[in-house]
Amino acid sequence: MLSENQNLPKNTYHYIIAGGGMAGLSLAFYLNQNPYFKDKKILIIDREEKNVNDHTWCFWETGTSPFEEIIAQKWKGVWFHGTENFSQFLDLQDYVYKMIRGIDFYEYIIPILKQNSNITFLQADILEVAETVKTNKGDFDASEYVFDSCYRSKYNNPKHHNMLQHFKGWVIETTKPVFKIDEPILFDFRTEQKDELRFVYVLPHSETKALIEFTIFSDNLISQEEYEFYLKKYIEETLKAGEYQIKPEEYQISETEFGIIPMSDEPHEASPSPKVIRIGTSGGYVKASTGYTFQRSQRYLQNLVKSLEHNKVEKNGMQLNRWKGFLDTVLLNVMLHHRTPQDSVFTSFFKYNKASKVLKFLDEDTSVFEDIMFINTVPKPPFIRAAWDVLVKKMF
Ligand SMILES: Cc1cc2nc3c(=O)[nH]c(=O)nc-3n(C[C@H](O)[C@H](O)[C@H](O)COP(=O)(O)OP(=O)(O)OC[C@H]3O[C@@H](n4cnc5c(N)ncnc54)[C@H](O)[C@@H]3O)c2cc1C
Repeated sequence: MLSENQNLPKNTYHYIIAGGGMAGLSLAFYLNQNPYFKDKKILIIDREEKNVNDHTWCFWETGTSPFEEIIAQKWKGVWFHGTENFSQFLDLQDYVYKMIRGIDFYEYIIPILKQNSNITFLQADILEVAETVKTNKGDFDASEYVFDSCYRSKYNNPKHHNMLQHFKGWVIETTKPVFKIDEPILFDFRTEQKDELRFVYVLPHSETKALIEFTIFSDNLISQEEYEFYLKKYIEETLKAGEYQIKPEEYQISETEFGIIPMSDEPHEASPSPKVIRIGTSGGYVKASTGYTFQRSQRYLQNLVKSLEHNKVEKNGMQLNRWKGFLDTVLLNVMLHHRTPQDSVFTSFFKYNKASKVLKFLDEDTSVFEDIMFINTVPKPPFIRAAWDVLVKKMF
């Protein structure tokens, strides 16, 4: 008897994964784990070899991650430095804040996938994604689905809310042991806000090594020199590890990371064919008001794999909840229209709610009652104006 694979014409695969980054590789990982897909011929195309540490992903969860083995650090508590001298080390209770380095993720997943002879990797530039995926190394057809994580929406529809989260981070190594390994900083707003949302976070890798990331939520980018100016200022003036102030000659930059994440409530353009399913950033998996994507992608991709298994693929695994979407858009509206100092909004979140409740809210796992209790802790007039604006925009 012929195996299913042998029936496929040349250059044809059951599934093509266009873009083997975080979402593409996670999807392939879940497909590979599930015996239902053992005969599926899968092609993963990416222009990069995925052999550099291009991301550091942080997320929180209450359970165990499918990638638990490669979690580089995990924390039970985090520092929050907000407005009006609100500085507290927050107990995350049931949640654990976790960090995965991109390079560890790639080096863990790719060899596992390569053990499956039905999975093929191709390093190529993707030129067009439809039922046929065109690349600079040839064209490939999908008999069932193409999962696209290369597509980038323009995010320019004025009827919707479009902002950017942009950031630059340095992994620094210090000559003296200055970081407390158990004490990351989730948000530090003690940096000039310039009528935007600007903060720094610090992820200690060891007593002498940490990732320091300067982040802005806004609708325009700044120059690389400016990110660096604020990073340097933060390290040398604001960051006090214990009571110790790091001097310029006492640290070196060993890695750099830069990123831009769309923060948008714009619906994604229809894909070119029902056979093309957009995933990851391309699929709108990004949480619009915060940019967090890693953990949401895991959740949505696991849903997607379940629906593939039951032959009921209508969407890309995203669970759309209109109420949660509305809350997210209202927060985006407050930030985009500068309705109130945004650092004080985030400070209210953490000052008047348990940190675990904030994380649950941001994960969209809170009940409507919990949402209302949560909303009660933020400054009312700017949020009411934002909610009204969002409702009017939705009506017309
Ligand atoms: C530096 C950085 C840090 C981040 N940190 C966090 C975090 O801490 N927590 C969190 O929740 N989210 C974080 N994010 C947001 C989000 O999790 C990441 O952007 C994540 O990588 C998105 O996954 P993706 O698969 O959509 O995109 P990617 O991981 O970027 O994958 C897309 C892949 O497609 C490939 N590709 C694109 N175009 C082509 C083409 N034409 N031809 C061939 N290949 C192509 C790229 O090479 C890439 O490998 C971060 C983002 C960045 C940029």
